[in-house]
Amino acid sequence: MRSTMMDYPLTLVRFLERAGRYFPDTEIVSRMPDKSLHRESYGDFYRRARALAAALTRAGLKKGDRVATLMWNHYAHLEAYFGVPVSAGVLHTLNLRLHPQEIAYIVNHAEDRFLIVDDILLPLYEQFRSQVNFERVIVVRLTGNPTPDGFDDYEKFIAPGGDAFTYPTIDEKDPLGMCYTSGTTGKPLGVVYSHRSTVLHAMNVGLADAIGTPSGTTYLTLVPMFHVNAWGAPYINTALGIKQVFPGPYYDAESILDLMEREQVGLAAGVPTLWMGVLQALEREPKRWRLLPGLTLVVGGSAAPEAMMRAFDRLGITLLHAWGMTETSPMGTVSRLKPKLEKLGEDQRYAIRVKQGLPALLVELRVMANDKEVPPDDQTMGEIEVRGPFISGGYYKTAPSPEKFSPDGWLRTGDIAVVDAEGYVKIVDRSKDVIKSGGEWISSLDLENFLMGHPAVAEAAVIAVPHPKWDERPLAVIVLKPGQSATPEQLAEFLRPKVPKWWLPDAYVFTDAIPRGSTGKFLKSRLRDLYGKGAPSAAGKAG
Ligand code: AMP
Repeated sequence: MRSTMMDYPLTLVRFLERAGRYFPDTEIVSRMPDKSLHRESYGDFYRRARALAAALTRAGLKKGDRVATLMWNHYAHLEAYFGVPVSAGVLHTLNLRLHPQEIAYIVNHAEDRFLIVDDILLPLYEQFRSQVNFERVIVVRLTGNPTPDGFDDYEKFIAPGGDAFTYPTIDEKDPLGMCYTSGTTGKPLGVVYSHRSTVLHAMNVGLADAIGTPSGTTYLTLVPMFHVNAWGAPYINTALGIKQVFPGPYYDAESILDLMEREQVGLAAGVPTLWMGVLQALEREPKRWRLLPGLTLVVGGSAAPEAMMRAFDRLGITLLHAWGMTETSPMGTVSRLKPKLEKLGEDQRYAIRVKQGLPALLVELRVMANDKEVPPDDQTMGEIEVRGPFISGGYYKTAPSPEKFSPDGWLRTGDIAVVDAEGYVKIVDRSKDVIKSGGEWISSLDLENFLMGHPAVAEAAVIAVPHPKWDERPLAVIVLKPGQSATPEQLAEFLRPKVPKWWLPDAYVFTDAIPRGSTGKFLKSRLRDLYGKGAPSAAGKAG
């Protein structure tokens, strides 16, 4: 017997058509370089995305050709998010925070054919222009400046429109987009998403038990659109007719809060370092901003500190913790309390909410040590492995290595975690960051989390430093809040009741800022370069 269901492909065309047909009045708001707000209706967005698809097709784009973007988050990037895939092209979002040399490597590796670039990013493009070979470079004029010679003007490029455009036949397994991993350990690796994986992932993000975007909510897309598809938000938000707000090039706390207030944002997503800045601004002037009651901030990309979650709660803002990676589209887990856990005491609820959570629907997850699943005892550590319809099974033009993929086809994430009896996963470290002291593992994330709970500490990052007897010992790098002070002894006293004695950092380094990587996460590799041989003389010892 066969099912009677239609063999109907899961493609982005449906998402775009739904947005254009049913939500033409919904708004897309973008912050421009001059700080003004650009407003576009979904109706215009729909016409312009199709006009872009038609223009690319006229320019000779063939199925599977890569169209790169070097853009901030705004309306034109959203048009590319849809216009490129529905023309059967592959959207390759370039991370504008990478070194120009690295961008050139990625462009050449992906064999990108066209580039769409913001005018304000042309100086960046010029830095790698001689090393790449785009057939056409299309410039989005966010400022009033004219398009320089030798480039296509985006508005002129799409001006003929797309009314007569017919979608090419797209198979759901056809590629839709690609992103490169941040490549902190070796060359960046290309992950290629399909229409099917993107549709399934986006629908999953929209579930109430995952991120959930109720209609009527306004969504501020802070995750850079070059960072794993802005975590899938542009796709699902568009399909659901959600009002979308984009920050353009402005990521300072003031600009973010201003957008949240003006547009009455209900949901936003970003990395912890971003939210830390927002929290500090709110705590400085709690009465200044009139934010929407019930504002929810999705936090992921690195671990959400418990102190930050509690502090936001006190302001009536909810943090929702999620985990993922470029290879997982990215949503792998989300930490929402099961209904029966809502009854737990406050501390227990926080202990679960700060975990990375339960696997997303359709994601299979296991935590492995010595080729066996670890027991769900919340303390045995192992590496997270995942598989599912939106998990990458390899890398573009790269042979799969056993370090990255298990013989039975699971993605080895490199994240070390424990799992509890309810199935909640808690990441204790990246495998390359975990501190191996005397044959036992110390979680740098746990130490950071506790240290950031100290009232004087704004930011903390913990790294391993070599030790003659114990192999490695923890060193904490601390940024104090303005006007606050704390000594190594006071920090050690604060940690002492919370962690085993042998976890206490051997040294503390006080600094003005912790270096951040291209997606805003703490850059531990840089800290290891700076302090990996031990603390400089200005540092203090304690423990
Ligand atoms: P990327 O591919 O650049 O998004 O980086 C993915 C990595 O970021 C993961 O493998 C984790 O190490 C880390 N990561 C992402 N989300 C979280 C989280 N919620 N908690 C801890 N680490 C995270």
